[in-house]
Amino acid sequence: MPRDAATVLCSRPRTRVTRLNSGDRDAQAMTEASDWRLQGQEKYLQAATLIRRAWRPPARKPNWDHDHCEFCTVKFMAEPQPDALREGYCTTDEYHWICATCFEDFKSRFEWKLVEG
Ligand SMILES: [Zn+2]
Repeated sequence: MPRDAATVLCSRPRTRVTRLNSGDRDAQAMTEASDWRLQGQEKYLQAATLIRRAWRPPARKPNWDHDHCEFCTVKFMAEPQPDALREGYCTTDEYHWICATCFEDFKSRFEWKLVEG
């Protein structure tokens, strides 16, 4: 899939409602900037070191066939699929994956450090 197509896929408008309980207005007010993709990821991704690479199954789970972007939940897979990306940014343990769109949108806020894969 061309990289541009992947970006469009990830950034298309979505109608999904927030995961917050809609009846809980205090919780709603606490979500900063109200970007629906922000769900408290700073707990484990703030100032993280990220590597740009093609997706692959984690070493400890060789049968794993996909992951999701930590922010927009777009899918990553090793095999070409119309609804999945084949590369992105991952933490050094390859546990958390972030798509190119979300990486660009949040890299300043999260102070990510990018290293060569
Ligand atoms: Zn994303």
